[in-house]
Amino acid sequence: MILYNTLGGTKQEFVPHEAGKVKMYTCGPTVYHYAHIGNLRTYIMEDVLEKYLRYAGYDVLRVMNITDVGHLSSDADTGEDKMLAGAKREHKSVLEIADFYTKAFFSDAGKLNIKTPDVVEPATHCIPEFIEMIGRLIDNGYAYLAGGNVYFDTSKLDNYYVFGNMNEEELQVGVREDVGEDENKRNKTDFVLWFTKSKFEDQELKWESPWGYGYPGWHIECSAISIKHAGEYLDIHCGGVDNAFPHHTNEIAQSEAYLGHKWCNYWFHVLHLLDKRGKMSKSKGGFLTVSLLEEKGYDPLAYRFFCLQSHYRKPLVFSFENLDNCVQAYNKLVARVANLKADGEADLAAAKQYQDSFKEALDNDLNTSLAVTALYDVLKGDISDATKLYLIADFDRVLSLGLIEAAEKKTAASTDDADTAKIEELIAQRAEAKAAKNWGEADRIRDVLKEMGVIVKDTKDGPVWERI
Ligand code: AMP
Ligand code: ZN
Repeated sequence: MILYNTLGGTKQEFVPHEAGKVKMYTCGPTVYHYAHIGNLRTYIMEDVLEKYLRYAGYDVLRVMNITDVGHLSSDADTGEDKMLAGAKREHKSVLEIADFYTKAFFSDAGKLNIKTPDVVEPATHCIPEFIEMIGRLIDNGYAYLAGGNVYFDTSKLDNYYVFGNMNEEELQVGVREDVGEDENKRNKTDFVLWFTKSKFEDQELKWESPWGYGYPGWHIECSAISIKHAGEYLDIHCGGVDNAFPHHTNEIAQSEAYLGHKWCNYWFHVLHLLDKRGKMSKSKGGFLTVSLLEEKGYDPLAYRFFCLQSHYRKPLVFSFENLDNCVQAYNKLVARVANLKADGEADLAAAKQYQDSFKEALDNDLNTSLAVTALYDVLKGDISDATKLYLIADFDRVLSLGLIEAAEKKTAASTDDADTAKIEELIAQRAEAKAAKNWGEADRIRDVLKEMGVIVKDTKDGPVWERI
């Protein structure tokens, strides 16, 4: 498989550390609000990557954190704590907020057929690991104490800006002049590993540490959680592109300083979902959620389909007009699948060429829109319906569009409609027979209905029926 790697800025052949095994880490949600459909674009594309690696035969371990502490409103070390802001907004405790929005995240992810990673770890469960890691960084001379906080010393690294291919503007996000530089820092790019009471007095969640009562910085949690569960060598690290700097850059700095060797070989970044105002973001408000789409009558899987039709490395512009087009295309796909008859065994030899083009698409830097084209080619193909159904189920192990389930539901609903029409017709005929005093015929029809599992009762307002 060829993947674009932000580290190096080129498409590269994917080779894991250990043959046949992939260790993958995903930056999880900051659970102070609902995930918006932009966040979920990132999780959908990461889900496709994970499922494709499994489809290609790898044994995958995927780890994800839940950011329930430490993420400040700027991706650098400034601003209010996002969790605290969420708790204040809703007059709840930080833990209540975290619990509520973690559940909401997995409920939304489930509706989009996003698989839950093998390991999901909230940051607040790993304080001893953060403390151990920070301790070693201090001992090794990579971190220092200043003004009550512990900072990572970026001047100790030969190359801090590892994603050298990123543009100047992206690199400056975390070190803007106007964010009120922290005077404790020795270098502008240094970042906090541990905050103590010297900062953010009203912080709700704090823990004892060798450096005082306090709480971890945001970046340390992903390094420590990844190393805890996936070990010293990570194959793929994923996230939205906004995380590349400073978050992922800082993760690399502290993980490699801690481990003493290279940590992760491939960095997979998903470009943003944009709306009219630019990047969809939680802090800007007015964002779209899965529940809002549902309230407007959209099937969440139509949104998944929308995401699959564009490449993860291109920004994606959301509009309801585009989503409506996808809904139509999705419904047509379901109708075509519903028309297929399971007519015997699938022809596996004939299926192979379709599987090859599906793999070719995804092997080329996860080209999901071409994988969807491969799906259309199956429907158009000169192969049996059984082979088509086999391939659709096979591709859905990766695409997870739920096409077969949706087609079954559609068929069941139309069978149900046809049944209801038939029952009503028989009841009308029975009423006619009774009006003509043809009691024998009326009884015969009642028996036919009974055979169909329907009983009819005559009331003063006419006959009513129910299924038994
Ligand atoms: P957060 O919950 O803010 O920590 O973000 C969760 C994930 O969503 C991270 O990987 C972000 O990089 C990603 N993300 C944030 N905004 C967008 C967006 N507009 N489009 C795509 N991904 C995003
Ligand atoms: Zn992270």
